[in-house]
Amino acid sequence: MLPAETVTWLDGRTSVTGDHPGDFPSSLDPAPAMPPPNAYLFVDLDDSLLQTREKCPTGPLTLAAHDRDGQPLSFHTPAQATLLGLLEGVPLIPVTGRNLTALRRVVSPRFASYRITSHGALVLGPDERPLPSWETQIDAQAAVWGPRLSAVAAVAEDAIREAGVAVRARVIEDLGFPVYLSLKGPEADLLALAERLAPHWPDGRLHHNHHNLALLPPYADKAAAVRHLIDAITSISPVPPLFIGLGDSLTDLPFLRLCNFALVPRDSQIQRHTWR
Ligand SMILES: [Mg+2]
Repeated sequence: MLPAETVTWLDGRTSVTGDHPGDFPSSLDPAPAMPPPNAYLFVDLDDSLLQTREKCPTGPLTLAAHDRDGQPLSFHTPAQATLLGLLEGVPLIPVTGRNLTALRRVVSPRFASYRITSHGALVLGPDERPLPSWETQIDAQAAVWGPRLSAVAAVAEDAIREAGVAVRARVIEDLGFPVYLSLKGPEADLLALAERLAPHWPDGRLHHNHHNLALLPPYADKAAAVRHLIDAITSISPVPPLFIGLGDSLTDLPFLRLCNFALVPRDSQIQRHTWR
């Protein structure tokens, strides 16, 4: 008989393994209870698991997120809804450009574990508060980069005015931390602005996909945030956990590489640029 072992999972549940009466159950034995999988899925959201209606091919759609006014804005395709069904029981950890306020507008999927928001600037616990181990890392950096974000936002406003383009620039905050400069508008205008702003953002990074451009401080780093959680989860897991990543943008690649497996949507930015 195998020795019984009690396993405590991150969400507080416990299960007992190896306590069946024989080493190998016969066909007459009831199926042994399977412990929950020790797996975690790090998921980018927009354009990976949900998107606006214009980006959805035909088919019945499932509501995924509201806009600021509470109106339906983003949806799951049938394929995304089926994928979520397959992953039922696996903790989903969002790794998103959304700040917490915008993440709360996501109605599907629901999140019960950790959250990574604002392109990796914040790592939050299930209680939506920053993990103390992460907060101590970014406190001093945010104090330095807040004024820099305001300064580059002023440069962006001038450039937008000079060019006469319909682009909106805004410094995004998350739980009081300045986290990135967001520019939204036509893709060609954003590409021109990215070139114009790059010299004013020498130590930061730029993220561009479709109608969004973000100027990120160094602490807004999805890979660093995911690595922090992988280390934390692994350190308290009785067996090596399985980590799966899902992302569509080139800027998701560094965090996808940290996972055991990666899921990439068809026709995503990653596929268009790297799967030839
Ligand atoms: Mg995305």
